[in-house]
Amino acid sequence: MSAIGDPQLLKLINQGVVYRMLKAKPGMSRSQLSQFTGLTKSTISLLVKELIEERWLVESELFSKSPVGRPSTSLFVDSQSRALIGVECSRDRVQLVSVSTSGEIQFSLKADNTSTDIGTVLALVASLVSEASDRIHNTGLLLGGAGISFAGVFDENTGTLKSSSDFAWKNEPIVQRVRLAFKKQGLADIPFFVHSKYHCCAVGAYEFSGQRADTLMYLDFSQSIQTGLVVGDRICAGFSGTAGAIGHTFIQGDGPVCTVCGRSGCVDSLLASEALEGLAQPCVRASVVAALLHNLWRAFNPSIFVMGGESLMRWPDLFEEAKQQFLQEHSAAEAPLVAHCRHGDLATAVGAAALPHYYRLRPLESPSNAISRALDFTGQRPAPDTLHAHVSWN
Ligand SMILES: [Zn+2]
Repeated sequence: MSAIGDPQLLKLINQGVVYRMLKAKPGMSRSQLSQFTGLTKSTISLLVKELIEERWLVESELFSKSPVGRPSTSLFVDSQSRALIGVECSRDRVQLVSVSTSGEIQFSLKADNTSTDIGTVLALVASLVSEASDRIHNTGLLLGGAGISFAGVFDENTGTLKSSSDFAWKNEPIVQRVRLAFKKQGLADIPFFVHSKYHCCAVGAYEFSGQRADTLMYLDFSQSIQTGLVVGDRICAGFSGTAGAIGHTFIQGDGPVCTVCGRSGCVDSLLASEALEGLAQPCVRASVVAALLHNLWRAFNPSIFVMGGESLMRWPDLFEEAKQQFLQEHSAAEAPLVAHCRHGDLATAVGAAALPHYYRLRPLESPSNAISRALDFTGQRPAPDTLHAHVSWN
């Protein structure tokens, strides 16, 4: 048996705990942090010092709650010093956004994509990231990393895009390919993470919504109905990366025949944008959307549903009616929050930008942890290229 220790990982875990605690409860003092995290006061002092130096936290002026004793200092997350890059890579465009650590959009860049060749497409991605990186550095912000989204099935354990909805790519080692494209563009130092489109949307809503939630489901109503899941504070992609693909699940026995799966009454046959376009009054499908919300709520019990996608923008009345029908079935105490995605057609890119933030705050979830997981089975470290990204706080 062989084993390794990792003091850097321990520091990252504790830094993540402190940061997330302050994100949830802004204004805590060092003493309160020690009390709520269970870490000693000296450990908290050291962690806070490092996090302030690295511009993750800021502290307020001294204040004193009582006339006796030493005054305390309130600590807050610094949401102004960092930029996160998110990229949505699709068949006809590469959409990039730069956002703050609270999800506010700083700027966006877009390029038309006319190629299906993976090397050419990723070179376009790298070129946009390079332009954004220069712009971020010129404004004095720190770049916290990049996230890249692809529509399709992504296996986060191997870094493989098993299939793509936009391209004919199969089983592409996408993480390695992105790394190569970044290296060619001189971006080897930028930590990056990859995930599939709808899980990016879910992570974006989870990290940037400002709502305290443990389990969140993102529902996308577009040409197909898809979901992304964060369950118990973790992205839930399922055994083979296909969790959340609900478009061809059954919902209404006498529904129309689906042109894709051939069955009657699947979710897409009733709610896909093409199906809604054919209706004089799309609002007649509100009860179907409400039934879908109910089924998903029963299955996953999210505390928040976030709805987004092209259809939501085209037929807002339909989804408002569905939301009201769904909420009427539940008491106020048990009802989840049903929210609309605030980033419109930039939701995927913003979600991708949340990836580096999400993984930094959960180092045990980061692919670097593949080192320790792999050791359990093989006793050897995997080659560096099988890892998604470096883990550091800068
Ligand atoms: Zn179907």
